[in-house]
Amino acid sequence: MADMTLPRPGCCKWAEGEAGNYTFPCNTRVEPGVSYCAEHSAIVYIPPEERRRNRSGGGGMSLSFRRAA
Ligand SMILES: [Zn+2]
Repeated sequence: MADMTLPRPGCCKWAEGEAGNYTFPCNTRVEPGVSYCAEHSAIVYIPPEERRRNRSGGGGMSLSFRRAA
């Protein structure tokens, strides 16, 4: 019987759920030594604040630079 509460070797280790009650819904195959597929590694390695900033136009930084110059 397969244990669905453990990440499978060779597959994305993206986890959802709460401590002690994780599931691993992503079955995307990954290279050996790689923990997450491209989609989930982007989520894991970029903090939510950064993502929000990028989504809302992103030009805020270059705008202030231009204004200061
Ligand atoms: Zn994934």
